[in-house]
Amino acid sequence: MVVRVQDRFAILLGRDALYPAPIAFTLAHEIGHIALRHLEATDAVVDMEDPAQIEPDDDEESAADHYALQLLTGDASPKIETNLDDFSAAQLARAVLVTGPERNIEPGTLALCLAYQDKKWAQANSALKMIYDQSKPVWREVNFLAAKQIDWSAIGSDSADYLRAVMAVPDA
Ligand SMILES: [Zn+2]
Repeated sequence: MVVRVQDRFAILLGRDALYPAPIAFTLAHEIGHIALRHLEATDAVVDMEDPAQIEPDDDEESAADHYALQLLTGDASPKIETNLDDFSAAQLARAVLVTGPERNIEPGTLALCLAYQDKKWAQANSALKMIYDQSKPVWREVNFLAAKQIDWSAIGSDSADYLRAVMAVPDA
């Protein structure tokens, strides 16, 4: 979800993944809600289901998806062609590890774009295990980066202590 307090925003992620690409899409989608001014008339936009896994059900959801794709791939509606009608996870992993860098698209993101386009979720999710060197909870890196964006001196020490505990980030 995205919350707004006056003209400031925060993205709250209620899910995690073992690989970066799914979280990158969800984060980019939520950034889209902010950038496209979907919070001007409301204090929060809540995506109950993961935007990466569902068809958008209204114009704002669709616009946020296109924003995310533009941000992550350089194309708001990328069309991905494959030279095989069906393929294994290993074939997909090998293909995106070559094609992704050529197109300046992170390979895991490219695999998920194809999964979304052609409903190849099983192959793409298995391919993620081969695309990345290791699995690890993505939230740690997300929260580490988020912590750098917070002006800790602007919030009270009790709030800062609470927020650091919730985010599991060390004292600045
Ligand atoms: Zn949304």
